[in-house]
Amino acid sequence: MQIIKTVSSMQEYTLKNKRLGKKIGFVPTMGYLHEGHESLLKKARQENDILVASIFVNPLQFGPNEDFEKYPRNEQHDIEIAKKNGVDALYMPTVEEMYPTDLGIAIQVVDRVDVLCAKSRPGHFDGVVTVLTKLFHTTSPDHVYFGIKDAQQVAVVDQLIKDYNFPIQLHMLETIREVDGLAKSSRNVYLTEQERTEAPSLFMSLQVAQQKIFDGEKNPAIIVNEVKKYINTHTTGNIDYVEILRFPSLKPLTRVDQQVIIAVAVQFSQARLIDNIILMPDGTSSNVLG
Ligand code: AMP
Repeated sequence: MQIIKTVSSMQEYTLKNKRLGKKIGFVPTMGYLHEGHESLLKKARQENDILVASIFVNPLQFGPNEDFEKYPRNEQHDIEIAKKNGVDALYMPTVEEMYPTDLGIAIQVVDRVDVLCAKSRPGHFDGVVTVLTKLFHTTSPDHVYFGIKDAQQVAVVDQLIKDYNFPIQLHMLETIREVDGLAKSSRNVYLTEQERTEAPSLFMSLQVAQQKIFDGEKNPAIIVNEVKKYINTHTTGNIDYVEILRFPSLKPLTRVDQQVIIAVAVQFSQARLIDNIILMPDGTSSNVLG
């Protein structure tokens, strides 16, 4: 496995492989790799000649009071995980390499900004699409792999690829969970012992919603209330949002009559956790980008 730290050597590497007719699969991450990331790497490994992964904690997507400084990092561990999963090139640029000067051209997300994480983390997705534009230009992937755990991110990346004609196929993979249902996340290490016992309640609250829909409930407000009630009675965290929206448009709905996403974000003392499920109107699970 090659570890690559500069834009120019990464571009050289990808251009060389493109000229040889190789298909490049790319998995962008912020590191502190866990089984969720590994599932993306494994899938990308199967489907491409060359597997490129990146590890970059992107300051642009963190707000001023967010956890950029203390976002968990462990390069050695990540290198081992990348090697184990057959990564050919691990791209690990520094912040200075990625952003040598202030950007003179801004990329801004204008759709879906009034819901979910875009609403509670203003500017977050502008940072995401900016870094992904740079990463896509540097790694020239044919296929990219993202987790549905960050569902709004997948919807925004889908839009980026379509709006700006990136010749890239997007793959959306299911959320990998701990045995108790907690979605794997780099941020889980910042839960206190008590909070760790409470955190599976996020997924359980989504299952409560799923059951409601199975039972024929069509009113989104009632479903949202049930989820909030469940989280409030089973955790000490503060609800940031509980929303039910159409998926992938992320538009509001008055009745559960199409594919929907039910998404939650809960702030614990040192970690903000998100989770979601995507359902058909009869309550069965789904994960179609559309
Ligand atoms: P991150 O390092 O948190 O930016 O995540 C990098 C990629 O891994 C994103 O596409 C995430 O959606 C995906 N990912 C993170 N956690 C999980 C998980 N538990 N299951 C599946 N994919 C995940």
